Amino acid sequence: MNAQRAGSRPLLAGNWKMNPARASEAADLARGVIGAARAASATVDVALLPPFPWLLGVAELLHETGVGLGAQDCFWEPAGAYTGEVSAAMLSGWCQWVLTGHSERRQIFGESDEWVSKKTKAAIGVGLSVILCVGELDDQFEAGRTDEVVSGQLQAALEYMSPGDSGRLVIAYEPIWAIGTGKNADPEHAYRTMRVIRRVLDESLGDEASSRVRILYGGSANSGNVGSYVELPLCDGCLVGGASLKAHEFARMIEVVAEVYGGPTTEEATTS
Ligand code: PEP
Repeated sequence: MNAQRAGSRPLLAGNWKMNPARASEAADLARGVIGAARAASATVDVALLPPFPWLLGVAELLHETGVGLGAQDCFWEPAGAYTGEVSAAMLSGWCQWVLTGHSERRQIFGESDEWVSKKTKAAIGVGLSVILCVGELDDQFEAGRTDEVVSGQLQAALEYMSPGDSGRLVIAYEPIWAIGTGKNADPEHAYRTMRVIRRVLDESLGDEASSRVRILYGGSANSGNVGSYVELPLCDGCLVGGASLKAHEFARMIEVVAEVYGGPTTEEATTS
């Protein structure tokens, strides 16, 4: 058990990206995770982040299960002529969580630090909790620029944030070269970067508000390696892409996190 983290609640969030293709598959995936999430609910927070069209169906399945629901993006204006966008305000009726600044939004859709900051502020403003993603590219990692890149992204996102917002903020450190590649980051590298993230949070929000912000690792996390991240003193869980699309695998990850935090596993919970 990770004694240093005992007492805090880890978060395991499944980012389904643009998957699965069918509503029925989304429902099966959610159903396949609920049992493990409930069994570990005394110890672990679990959130599922499906694509927009599957949100309502999954919301019904998750109702009163304690499993959180989140979206993968939002827009900061509450309503209006913004074709294709979904506002944070619209999501707040269905979701508890939203992702901002995911590297795929930054890389493929050209989202700037300023946009990420506005989305984050708007989402927190309507009562959502935000998982804000930061992380460096492969060449930035190779050039030893991780700290500078991650600090810059984080400082920009925190610009409009007040210490009072901190309870609704989670930072996911996701090295871009580790996302979807099967090349998960060395836990030592993740730990060093999380120290930098914690320092920036302390400086921007103050120690007390900073202590309410959880820090996750993301990038090819799976049931075989999740333990090595959540054992890190500064790591409060994982943001999971590919492995969250397999109900068994994600359920196993929940069990591993519960074991590290000393909580009941599925097996113990069902036999007690
Ligand atoms: C992600 O998309 O946030 C992610 C971490 O993906 P994967 O786990 O597949 O690397």
